[in-house]
Amino acid sequence: MSKSTNLSTEHSRSDVICPVCGRKKSPVLPFIGNLCKDCFLEKYGVAHVPDYIHITICSSCGAYKIGKQWVYSSPTTLEEAVYEAVYTVLMSKIKPVTGLSYVSIKNLESQSPINTYGEYYFKVTAEGKSLEGVVLEKDYMVKVRVSAALCPRCIRRKIGYHEALVQVRGIGGKLEDFEKNLVLDYLDTFPLKLKEQIVDILDKKEGLDLLVTDATSARIIASKMSGRFLGKRIETYSLSGRRNDGRRLGHLTISLRIASVRNGDIICIDGSPNYVLDITGNRIRLIDLESGRESSLNSDQFWSHKIESYTPSSKIKKVMLLSRDPHTIVFLDIESGYTSAIEYPPERVVNLADKELREGDEYIAYLTGKVLYIIS
Ligand SMILES: [Zn+2]
Ligand SMILES: [Zn+2]
Repeated sequence: MSKSTNLSTEHSRSDVICPVCGRKKSPVLPFIGNLCKDCFLEKYGVAHVPDYIHITICSSCGAYKIGKQWVYSSPTTLEEAVYEAVYTVLMSKIKPVTGLSYVSIKNLESQSPINTYGEYYFKVTAEGKSLEGVVLEKDYMVKVRVSAALCPRCIRRKIGYHEALVQVRGIGGKLEDFEKNLVLDYLDTFPLKLKEQIVDILDKKEGLDLLVTDATSARIIASKMSGRFLGKRIETYSLSGRRNDGRRLGHLTISLRIASVRNGDIICIDGSPNYVLDITGNRIRLIDLESGRESSLNSDQFWSHKIESYTPSSKIKKVMLLSRDPHTIVFLDIESGYTSAIEYPPERVVNLADKELREGDEYIAYLTGKVLYIIS
């Protein structure tokens, strides 16, 4: 009898005892398999963690190499790049010990500040969960060798290798200086990733040549510019030999014509002067100064016409408004020394400029036989 009393104060039949430390399973001492949590942790740990890893980081852009693959992210410092690379490499190598269903990296900490390439020790806190749902945690020390290299993208950029060329030209085939500046300002607003793919910009007499590392980036750049400047693209692709590894090398040329006109400009469409009422990235509204007809064209429609820049003719005059009454508006031709008067009935004076008509004010006008357009 006394024996059974003894048993009930120590262990009942249903008690689970850890064979290593002899303690009893309880809510504060959960078991994993037949071991208590502490003994399991001591015997097996949480994960198989390599004690040494080697990482390679691009010294130019911070990309890192996993196996044979380069991973492009946007680290701002070497330290950030190293942490990201160490984390990714460890995640691919760490395996939970038998009895645990998964393991993750709870914390990573370099034992010294990272400011150059070399060797570092990282304290890796691994967290795992057993099949029974018991959460375990253990610190491991991993030696990390950090090497510098250049990733393929940066190699291409450094040696000026390019696969694609975007030739930016203007109306009439030539890009004026102010247009070049508009294009350069616009390129500057591109995301850094895209800008980095432009190896070089050649300032040519006829326009700008953008050398781009790859065809995809070139197409994105050309498409963005088309959308901004009512552009027209023509692509030509040529094979230009083979690389050392035998792969065929292609070269893409995108000829991009842009209409970098502004509201109030005059351009020639099929030989007829047109005043630009309004231009957005993909649509232009025009008024034909000879026929008075208004049109609204998308970029395909626009470029299907013969587009030329307008050479000022004698129809453009600098005038001063002399007088106006319900029947006549009288202008003086300034270049004639204010001597010759030009008279139009008010309904045949079309004010395209964002200006009020006032006696004594000067304007630029376009004169047809029928209509006088105030242009600015
Ligand atoms: Zn134990
Ligand atoms: Zn790089």
